Amino acid sequence: MTPAESDNNQRVAVVTGASRGIGKAIAERLCADGHHVVLVARSAEAIETLAGELVGSGGSAEACPCDLSDDAAADAMLEGVFERHGRLDILVNNAGITRDGLILRMSDEDFDAVLGTNLRAAFRLCRAAARPMMRGRWGRIINIGSVVGIMGNPGQCNYAAAKAGLIGMTRSIGKELGGKGITANVIAPGFIETDMTDALPDQLVKEAVGRLPARRLGKPEEIAHSVSFLASEGAGYVTGHVLAVDGGMLS
Ligand code: NAP
Repeated sequence: MTPAESDNNQRVAVVTGASRGIGKAIAERLCADGHHVVLVARSAEAIETLAGELVGSGGSAEACPCDLSDDAAADAMLEGVFERHGRLDILVNNAGITRDGLILRMSDEDFDAVLGTNLRAAFRLCRAAARPMMRGRWGRIINIGSVVGIMGNPGQCNYAAAKAGLIGMTRSIGKELGGKGITANVIAPGFIETDMTDALPDQLVKEAVGRLPARRLGKPEEIAHSVSFLASEGAGYVTGHVLAVDGGMLS
């Protein structure tokens, strides 16, 4: 088996935003679970290095550099996956960006960019993945939302709209495809230690963590663990669910 090939019985998982942070941890975890993992992000070098490491440690993975805000590039990326493997079993829409600002100063461009990457690109990949999943009568769609999509957050009306949109979209997909053996769920992380939270002011993070029942930031691996569960055979009766992995933030 060459690094980019999956064997016939192996499930194929596409993980977007796999170059760092939560997506990287998800890719590592799904690979350790025995799946062939397709790593998607714009940073070609980062995902090629990660694919090399995963294959080097006995896993099965490939890098597919792609800017998901480019419709044609996203379509070509997923078509390439079907052509090479003839299947797609697990889709994790994790790629996300922020363009924070208070509503009075938020530009149309910042609103559209966040909706484009965080919601529209996820919708387009779910739509494209539905057909091969239906054909295989098995599928797992896992969309990475945020607690912000449930509770809102000042300065993030674009991000909150995208993440709230993911919840409605995922529940609708779950209802449409449930009879075909396909589940669709959202994981809503709280504060997780990644580049995204590194960009926040220290004082803001300190105060937020102080209010959390868990009294600490979450780790990317803790999100990956929940993805692994939702992608598993045993989670076949869990669909339309929003799983907060947030140290108790929403409790
Ligand atoms: P991160 O470290 O900023 O990583 C974001 C990932 O998305 C990167 O791999 C990035 O790769 C990829 N990406 C962004 N735009 C893309 C595009 N146009 N095309 C392809 N890939 C793109 O973020 P993170 O903290 O790991 O967050 C991952 C997900 O969890 C996001 O959806 C985020 O909203 C959500 N989340 C995070 C937290 C948190 O506390 N960290 C909390 C709640 C929810 P390239 O730059 O290489 O393209």
